Amino acid sequence: MAKILVTGGAGYIGSHTCHRLLEAGHDVQVLDDLSKGFAHNVPEGRLNVVNLHDAAAMDKLFSAHEFEAVIHFAAFIAVGESSREPERYFRNNTGGSLALLDAMKRHGVRRIVFSSTAAVYGNPEVVPIPENSAWKPVNPYGESKLMTETTLRWLSECSGLKYVALRYFNACGAEPRYGVGEEHDPETHLIPLILKAIRSGKPVTVFGQDYATPDGTCIRDYVHVSDLAEAHVKALDWLMAGGEGGVFNAGTGHGFSVLEVIRAAEAVTGQKVPYIMGERRIGDPAVLVADSAKLQKTLNWIPKYATLEEMVASAWAFESSHSHGD
Ligand code: UDP
Repeated sequence: MAKILVTGGAGYIGSHTCHRLLEAGHDVQVLDDLSKGFAHNVPEGRLNVVNLHDAAAMDKLFSAHEFEAVIHFAAFIAVGESSREPERYFRNNTGGSLALLDAMKRHGVRRIVFSSTAAVYGNPEVVPIPENSAWKPVNPYGESKLMTETTLRWLSECSGLKYVALRYFNACGAEPRYGVGEEHDPETHLIPLILKAIRSGKPVTVFGQDYATPDGTCIRDYVHVSDLAEAHVKALDWLMAGGEGGVFNAGTGHGFSVLEVIRAAEAVTGQKVPYIMGERRIGDPAVLVADSAKLQKTLNWIPKYATLEEMVASAWAFESSHSHGD
């Protein structure tokens, strides 16, 4: 059992990971400023409402608990917004991570699992994408995460920090045991928007139909949030056991187009998805699919959710129990 600080633990992937860590027997404290996350996602008695840039509050938190490691989720995540407000993304994501690393240094915490993203690759040259592909983000969100990865790499080289960076592909679904799910405000992600369209009858917009893909819509690698949570626990356990660390893709290796996701939602719900075709969204690569052999081999990580339908069904179960009719 380890004593862990989870930043961004009130968010979607962070809260699933907190619940999974507790199940695995770890002791967890959550740091979240609630700018995006929700207090109701955090297990009772574990929330500390603190901003990463508040050094005094960070010192208080680190002094009150002898953390052995940090899992760092706290970040803004909307690709489109990052292109409109890059300053906020660099300040919050890259600057916030630096502030966290400073606090860790002040308090002698030398292990971190970092929530990175497939957006570091930009428009990949090889698909499925291996970790050593060129890193050429095409939006400030991806760059803000890559800058943090670069910082981690140098701290590891120069000061012995141990880190794992997990480059997620498209997190989706929900874990019914935990009662948490995808609730961004505003929602920008495809699967929850499709499910909301079914409930409301208001169409979801498909962003672009002229990509170089079989049906013209973007292809993504959807990975269940519970499988991602498990990847974090495995990465943490590995670092705690003296593992070297490194950078890993976290995806299933299977790609689905936007239209295929719509068809899967129709199959799961038995209802038609109202949708319209729209313009491309700035900063969207055509295809992002992971080569996750490294994660599977090194950490023995095997995604349990194998089909898109299973993933969408778990999202639908959450949406059906939490919808406010919007
Ligand atoms: N997408 C879409 N309509 C929407 C939201 C997303 O067509 O209203 C597409 C988007 O262009 C991308 C895919 O769905 O190809 C997944 O987007 P999402 O925002 O869920 O995740 P991202 O790939 O940006 O991490």
